[in-house]
Amino acid sequence: MYVFEWTPGMDVESLCEKLATCVGTVRWWSGEMVYIGCECPPDRKRRVASILAGALVRDWLYRQLVVHVQQREPSLMSDEIEYGVLSQLHDLRATKARFAGDDLDAWEAKLAADLSAWMEQEDRLSLPAFARFRMRPLLTALTAEVERRMHQMRLEDEYEESLRMLRYMLNEQPIVKRELHVFCAPERIWMTDAEGELIRDEEVLAAALAGETDVDSEDLAMSILITRSPCRIILHDLDPDAPWPRFSETIRRVFRERVMPCRGCTTCWSHQGHQIRGDELLDLPWSDGAVDGQGLDI
Ligand SMILES: [Zn+2]
Repeated sequence: MYVFEWTPGMDVESLCEKLATCVGTVRWWSGEMVYIGCECPPDRKRRVASILAGALVRDWLYRQLVVHVQQREPSLMSDEIEYGVLSQLHDLRATKARFAGDDLDAWEAKLAADLSAWMEQEDRLSLPAFARFRMRPLLTALTAEVERRMHQMRLEDEYEESLRMLRYMLNEQPIVKRELHVFCAPERIWMTDAEGELIRDEEVLAAALAGETDVDSEDLAMSILITRSPCRIILHDLDPDAPWPRFSETIRRVFRERVMPCRGCTTCWSHQGHQIRGDELLDLPWSDGAVDGQGLDI
């Protein structure tokens, strides 16, 4: 008779049901700890080991991740966390993402081989202790990845929420028959009218200069754009490799059909030329373009 210690609070019944499909006698009893006992003929050891490895790499790992994320992101609802962890695990398995050298299927196979070898020598084993020892590198790498993804998911939710708010504010403004040009460069954003005259919104600028240090140039540009509500925005995207969330993308998502990409102007051309030559971007004389006025920061 083999006796395996299992983790309290986890679904022991379904594990026993799986074991019962290949061995004759399975019993479990629980108190402070949960124990599973099974009679296992020699020719079934590998099958039992692979069922146990499956329970560790799927159920046990899932439970560890849920508990970890609950501690790190206490503002998230628990069903949100459970769903998030489950879908991340599914995705990481499907894409064969590697953790500490192996993907999840390879880890499962490796653990099954270890358990099978163990069963040749011993008849008692604490599965949680085995998992904590053998799966530590997997758990560490996987936890970091799931945490990063959950964090990104939360940021994306917040971003979508802010887009909804900006759309709402824009819908409150009457559409003005006017074209504005928005230039998104790596180190600054600026706007001009159709004639190339630099746009400055005195009120918004004054508010920013009055010490509201958390108003950045993107917020400022968005306030000006929403207040002016132009019927057409020509977007000069000089920073296609900007990190998420890209401001040019935010403009597209908020102003939708009013946004047209620049089809080529002297500013875009000179920017590309500088990039190809690998010049220091921060020192670029942005005001050299035909439509970007004095190149003042907003
Ligand atoms: Zn352009």
